[in-house]
Amino acid sequence: MSDRVKGNSPKLESFWMPFTANRQFKASPRMLVAASGMYYTSDDGRQVMDGTAGLWCVNAGHGRRSIAEAVERQLMTLDFAPTFQMGHPTAFDFAERLAAVAPGPAGAKLDRVFFTGSGSESVDTALKIALAYQRAIGQGTRTRLIGRERGYHGVGFGGISVGGILNNRRVYPTLNGTDHLRHTHDLARNAFVKGQPEHGAELADDLERLVALHGAETIAACIVEPVAGSTGVLIPPKGYLERLRDICTRYGILLIFDEVISGFGRLGAPFATDYFGVVPDLVTTAKGLTNGIIPMGAVFASRKVHDGLMHGPEEVIELFHGYTYSGHPVSSAAGIAALSIYEEEGLLTRASDLGDDWATSVHELQGRKNVIDIRTIGLIAGIELASRPGAPGSRAYDVFVDCFQRGLLIRTTGDIIALSPPLIIDREQIASATAILAEAINRAA
Ligand code: PMP
Repeated sequence: MSDRVKGNSPKLESFWMPFTANRQFKASPRMLVAASGMYYTSDDGRQVMDGTAGLWCVNAGHGRRSIAEAVERQLMTLDFAPTFQMGHPTAFDFAERLAAVAPGPAGAKLDRVFFTGSGSESVDTALKIALAYQRAIGQGTRTRLIGRERGYHGVGFGGISVGGILNNRRVYPTLNGTDHLRHTHDLARNAFVKGQPEHGAELADDLERLVALHGAETIAACIVEPVAGSTGVLIPPKGYLERLRDICTRYGILLIFDEVISGFGRLGAPFATDYFGVVPDLVTTAKGLTNGIIPMGAVFASRKVHDGLMHGPEEVIELFHGYTYSGHPVSSAAGIAALSIYEEEGLLTRASDLGDDWATSVHELQGRKNVIDIRTIGLIAGIELASRPGAPGSRAYDVFVDCFQRGLLIRTTGDIIALSPPLIIDREQIASATAILAEAINRAA
């Protein structure tokens, strides 16, 4: 084992860890020190299968040489250049490459690309584009933003306002003029379904209720994750997204799909937009955009939205918005290399080839102790455990710790286990991941 892998134990005081119980973690830290393909190496030298693609982002697996080489080449050619009133070819090239695979059907792709630095920035950018667009077309009264209960849209003030997670909103003020659709999670009617549940399309009509309550002329946009990831893999009921699209169209409301997780092949099509065949006006992405290895996000906009702003009343700067790192040359180079891998290795559709085996394997956990639901679509799974009375989240946390010891990295949210492996996973690895998980679930009292 190399010294780097063995590592010296680092001091733990100064790094204030995000979304982490710092005190608990620092009492018994878990460290990853290297990664290749489907596996991490832990600091005690064990191989740990990556069941979560890092944080839903390393879609082509770890240690991809062509991305590293592209990054190095870009760094030594042009390490940074502004994109405010200035250009560099790598960002333009990346946008053109993305336009070719952009969400939506041929001829109506959302092929105008605004670069950001993360998923949270993509969400806030999409919300601002929606507001600016409505104003540009003379609909300036439309300032209200609609999200959904149990939605996760990152941590910016826009994102937590349209998001529907109490803990994200408890401490911080949220934007005025936001409201929320009901969530679609319905265990009573839809437990243990593979793919899209049968029941619940009518929940989209909740948007009609909000239109009746607030007036369509006040609503700019409605944002949902086509498949909600971070809140426990909630899959849209059949017909739900279609109905949401219809209602938005009828009332002049822009529809935004947050595809930060579902983008770049997770469901077996390039985007959830393509998988479900429902076309929104804006799509937010990040994570898989660069295989997760350099921070970057992108918002895909329809021509209607883009052109509306280009011909709007602002004569000089059409959209008064942007980031220092929008279209960063190094991130763009990483993104181009990642996209090349996705295309060459067929990863944008690989989840559809593996999907049946994945679903079958994960659904074999049905009947194990405390498993109250299993949901699968593409290469994602949510496994919901019954909570221990008075200690919600503790059972799944125990499974998480046990899995890590046994060589599998999973994610948990409350008592829901989420799996989203790199799209390069093979059938043997699927079987071994679910076997480890089965053991850990059995052992969690
Ligand atoms: N939207 C969705 C749907 C996400 O899943 C996430 C991250 N899990 C975000 C936004 C925020 O992305 P980031 O952490 O890169 O800001």
